[in-house]
Amino acid sequence: MIGNVHSVDTFSTLDGPGIRTVIFMQGCHLRCQYCHNPDTWDCKATTAKPYESSEVLRIIERNLPYFQASGGGVTFSGGEPLLQHEFVKAVLEKCQHRGIHTAIDTSLYVTSSHVTELIPYTNLFLADIKQMNNEKSKALTGAGNRLNLHNLYLINERKTEIWIRYVVVPGLTDDENDITSLGRFIARLDWVKRVDLLPYHSLGSHKWPLLGLEYKLVNTPAPTAVQMIDLQSKLETTGGKPVFIPGNMI
Ligand code: SF4
Repeated sequence: MIGNVHSVDTFSTLDGPGIRTVIFMQGCHLRCQYCHNPDTWDCKATTAKPYESSEVLRIIERNLPYFQASGGGVTFSGGEPLLQHEFVKAVLEKCQHRGIHTAIDTSLYVTSSHVTELIPYTNLFLADIKQMNNEKSKALTGAGNRLNLHNLYLINERKTEIWIRYVVVPGLTDDENDITSLGRFIARLDWVKRVDLLPYHSLGSHKWPLLGLEYKLVNTPAPTAVQMIDLQSKLETTGGKPVFIPGNMI
């Protein structure tokens, strides 16, 4: 089976527990205003590389000693990896047979049956919530949030571990009501084991004009450390889950 791969990172510590090999899949249907990888959007980009699933498995297996020493494994990211769910499934199934921890970093704005098909082969979902408000979600990403919230319920029902990721963008996602409704939502999901609050940054903004795209957040500042810590505390109170601001991000 062939998958369209954007790139591979063989030593990540930011995409799940331990040291991880991250396979970035090509293609995404969302258009998040803060996206730092717009070069992953085009499903047919000629810059992506076709890989056989067996080839990807060989790359992953090379790091087995690191996985064993650190509690790490493989993470499929993107783009949106679930747009190539059959390829991802083929690799993850083999990884699980070899005892490798498996994770998918996903927006969950994808067909629900594709999510449920992957659940048995996935130890951990790193699931984005972009916005709890449906209209604001449309403005921020180009799509409403119903499908992704529904898919989160499905994963939770199947008792599979979830880490939520939420990007704090001043003026777009940091409203107190947004944070409160995020907290109330995750409080109902027993299998959400942690929440990562990620401060907005503009590191990938230089890619937008190179692709002929307008970067609309030119004047949007990063949230301050004080604001991040305040939101972290509010979210922990309403959500009842541990909330992290991943290392050195503020
Ligand atoms: S889901 Fe991820 S890859 Fe897709 S547009 Fe949003 S930030 Fe970019």
